[in-house]
Amino acid sequence: MANEYDVIIIGAGPGGYVAAIRAAQLGLKVAVVEKQKALGGTCLLWGCIPTKALLEHAHALKVVQHAREWGVTVGEAAIGIDMAQVQARKDKIVTVLTRGIEFLFKKNKIDWIKGTARLAGHGGVDVFEGDTQTLRARREIVVATGSAARGVPGVAIDRKRIITSDEAISLREVPNAIAIMGSGAVGVEFASIFRRFGSDVTLFELLPRLVPVEDEAVSAELEKSFRRQRIACHTGAKVTAARADAAGVDVDAQLADGRTQTIRVDYLLVAVGRGPVTTGLEAERAGLELDGGYVKVDAQYRTAVPGISAIGDVITFGAPGHPQLAHVASAEGVITAERIGGRDVRTLNYDHVPGCTYCDPEIGSVGLTEQDARARGYDVRVGTFPFSALGRARIAGEIEGFVKIVADGTHDGVLGVHLIGPRSTELVAEATLALRLECTVEKLARTIHAHPTMAEAVGEAAHAVHGAAIHM
Ligand SMILES: Cc1cc2nc3c(=O)[nH]c(=O)nc-3n(C[C@H](O)[C@H](O)[C@H](O)COP(=O)(O)OP(=O)(O)OC[C@H]3O[C@@H](n4cnc5c(N)ncnc54)[C@H](O)[C@@H]3O)c2cc1C
Repeated sequence: MANEYDVIIIGAGPGGYVAAIRAAQLGLKVAVVEKQKALGGTCLLWGCIPTKALLEHAHALKVVQHAREWGVTVGEAAIGIDMAQVQARKDKIVTVLTRGIEFLFKKNKIDWIKGTARLAGHGGVDVFEGDTQTLRARREIVVATGSAARGVPGVAIDRKRIITSDEAISLREVPNAIAIMGSGAVGVEFASIFRRFGSDVTLFELLPRLVPVEDEAVSAELEKSFRRQRIACHTGAKVTAARADAAGVDVDAQLADGRTQTIRVDYLLVAVGRGPVTTGLEAERAGLELDGGYVKVDAQYRTAVPGISAIGDVITFGAPGHPQLAHVASAEGVITAERIGGRDVRTLNYDHVPGCTYCDPEIGSVGLTEQDARARGYDVRVGTFPFSALGRARIAGEIEGFVKIVADGTHDGVLGVHLIGPRSTELVAEATLALRLECTVEKLARTIHAHPTMAEAVGEAAHAVHGAAIHM
């Protein structure tokens, strides 16, 4: 039957589309239902790719702003940013990448059913908007419907002046002033983008420090750098109300010292986290167990209903803390496809998931923070090496930040690596491999790092754990 498949996947984000390709590679007949006009989900359309494109523009502007230092002559014209060109370039990158997934679907004979899906029971999936039809899964349905930006009480998102990241990526003008609620990865990335483009930026963070999931030393370093860049950082501060009109927004906040403050900005960006997307899916009617809207799964992504799995941003294991990251969704997609395809699969170790924040300076981290390691009772040893002591960082003119290694003094094991500074989002790959291979600090230190590279900072930080860093 034309509408019968081995696997039907709902959602073509980095969870769903990767699961589809892996399942097809294993010889399964696969359909993906996706309601957007393009494949790739949040990651390609509104998340990872567009934001990193904007950050790359910000970096290019930073280099040109320092043209004299680099000996580059740019004439007398004022240096600025052309938002029409920024948006055009960003949109082109997104289009090329989404079409790339379409090509991969064709190559792997995966059917893209264009429409909105709901679970119909007994292996059925109703596509009720778009290419309406009922599909049937012989083996498994995979829910990969992702997440959407969340709001907070008292702050009504109107998507014009009080916006989410979905709107922020497409602003056609540089705001004179923007306030950002939330200093997680999304909040601080946009703070870096708009500050570099020339906006006055005010960050409000409810918790006592910026990027609260990171190691405390990283948070402190980022705040120091942001203050130097004249980004106003209010930690321990609560936005209590926001009133938008045609020209801007009045934002009321209660600051850490109890004072209240009202600021007038062009936009308020709400970046307080993301919630699961299950609307229209009729998940509960199909028997799925939900927890705060998230789909509950076991360690192999099976839901409460045999024959239905779920992966990516939409899932929970019941305890808080499932990371909402593209590479996590993809890793879960591969494991799920392999399980459905009859392969033996290993469960993911979520302590080994790298996290990257592409603000300026960049942050990369993997494993336990120093605080987590102490809380788990390890005999903690720490080694830190600053980029200011590194030749390659001096050459790049990027000397903020450090590499910090958290180690277990008893067995010399690497527990966590926390980087802030140039290329940290690339350097974290070595750290991730070190954790994955259960590398000792000694082995990491004795690994030869090419000179002059930023990666030398990782080797030096490992030596520093043993009090033996050379260039410090
Ligand atoms: C601004 C921003 C920046 C980010 N930057 C990064 C980053 O740098 N690195 C990183 O790792 N992560 C980043 N993320 C997070 C990352 O985008 C998500 O973790 C990832 O996209 C989750 O993948 P997913 O497949 O679970 O869901 P999604 O990517 O959200 O995809 C779900 C898809 O399902 C579709 N869908 C939903 N319901 C239905 C239905 N009923 N029928 C049919 N289709 C449906 C949606 O249209 C969507 O296309 C960022 C997120 C944001 C918002």
